[in-house]
Amino acid sequence: MSNRSGAETPSICAVGIPVTSAGHSGRFSDSPIGRGATAPDGKGRGLVSEPGSERVVVFDTTLRDGEQSPGASMNLPQKLQVAKALRDLGVDVIEAGFAAASPGDFEAIQGVARQVEGATICSLSRCSKGDIDASANALADAARKRIHVFLATSPIHRDFKLKMAKDEIIRRAVEGVKMARARCEDVEFSTEDAARTELEFLAEVVERTIEAGATTLNIPDTVGYALPQTYAETLSYLKKHVRGIERVVISVHCHNDLGLAVANSLAGVMVGARQVECTINGIGERAGNASLEEIVMAIKTRHDVLHVSTGVKSERLYPTSRLVAQVTGMHVQRNKAIVGQNAFAHEAGIHQHGMLTHRETYEIMRPEEVGFSRSSLVLGKHSGRHALKERLGALGYKLEDAQLDQVFAAFKALCDKKKEIYDADIEALVIHGQILGDGQHTWELVALSTTSGTGTLPAASIALQKNDGTRYQEACGGDGPVDAVFKAIERITGISAKLRDYQIQSVTVGEDAQGEVVLEVEHPTGVYRGRALSTDIIEGSARAYLDVVNRIALKQPAVAPEVEAVRQLGTV
Ligand SMILES: [Zn+2]
Repeated sequence: MSNRSGAETPSICAVGIPVTSAGHSGRFSDSPIGRGATAPDGKGRGLVSEPGSERVVVFDTTLRDGEQSPGASMNLPQKLQVAKALRDLGVDVIEAGFAAASPGDFEAIQGVARQVEGATICSLSRCSKGDIDASANALADAARKRIHVFLATSPIHRDFKLKMAKDEIIRRAVEGVKMARARCEDVEFSTEDAARTELEFLAEVVERTIEAGATTLNIPDTVGYALPQTYAETLSYLKKHVRGIERVVISVHCHNDLGLAVANSLAGVMVGARQVECTINGIGERAGNASLEEIVMAIKTRHDVLHVSTGVKSERLYPTSRLVAQVTGMHVQRNKAIVGQNAFAHEAGIHQHGMLTHRETYEIMRPEEVGFSRSSLVLGKHSGRHALKERLGALGYKLEDAQLDQVFAAFKALCDKKKEIYDADIEALVIHGQILGDGQHTWELVALSTTSGTGTLPAASIALQKNDGTRYQEACGGDGPVDAVFKAIERITGISAKLRDYQIQSVTVGEDAQGEVVLEVEHPTGVYRGRALSTDIIEGSARAYLDVVNRIALKQPAVAPEVEAVRQLGTV
């Protein structure tokens, strides 16, 4: 058992996180529920009750693990946009990718490292020189950087994936950490599939990698197998049996296969983990990762029990969630905690009565705390550029003049179709403008008309313009007006794809609300996603299908080759 005098410099400083109380920064409360614990040094300082006294490092892996969600791949401009939003949100570490996986991943990490200051930028690596060099090179220009190395430790991974004996695993892990330390001060080591690893062996790997120089030790539940109690027991065991563990930050990384990712992560925090790895909206491999917004708000709302804090600006949670949903095309379920549409809706009469009397009757958090705007009617036809700019600022968007001009033009066009413009409408215009404003469209919609009705055959007539200026026109029948539109587009462009998913979601309320159409199609070159915004669902569908066609023309599939490469390498 180790000495916890608190005299050593806590490695948490390596990521440049302000520590409010030096004596507490690297220290852990031994109590699983943080009540009345005595510190292991016997001086009774284990319980930290001052607000914000112990900082939990928020490690966001939306761009790496999150991107591994089927269909969630992002292109470079989108990744940069998400990375900037994460920085503005106040996360401590941004895992931007897996540098060795592909040139695309390397470029993304390099781009984030060069353009996003204010957070530590991290790249994932296997324990090999090639991977670690790729990470170090991609991160070269980052103001603060971290190399994250991993190796699987569980018997099933040892025997069937790596075909390595225990001593070989230790040798490789130690070598990997040493190589990473030679290139970077801040090194994280992950024992992949830790939750299914024998405790004694896990402790040995952890101890040896700490000796080798790892500054953060991540204990991932890679397959989402753990229960809160078993996971907490694993971490407590390591704290008790690993020499030198007080020098490193213990990290949790939980997957949601049993719906327990957030619960397991918090159980880890309760026994002393001081880094949580998570993603926006909980996206990630299979059932996803622990959701960042849920972790952050649980820590904030139940400070009375957890006695820790994060550096996240919670009022940026909702806008960031919306951005990631839009960029990835993965919508957030309505009843999702914290950021779902219904999270703060109190429709039942009895709740409303209670809310009017005293809002805390049914509300444990205020919607404003997570960035939900309660303002209803905002702007309309007579609102000028200045009013739009002010409202955008209040919503957290700082646009360049050229971007503002673009959004203002879209805003004016929307005012012709819609009387009342809500915050969500403005937000949708900004996000769609940013996603689709790359100017690389092969095909553009010029005109569209459809007929449908009981007793008539649905038909569509459509005019498109190609980027060389040529106009094309086509009329088609179909099973319905949308089907007819898609067929007409296929005939003109010569690009034919099989529709896999088609969703329409209203952005705001009212009969003239904007609808967001999201499509997923299968084409011989891959799976593609497209999206569009319109007050007319047929026009929205046409634009979303054109978005897909334009992506096929540019070969931008939803599952990018780099994501496939990452998945094949295996990750934590
Ligand atoms: Zn993971």
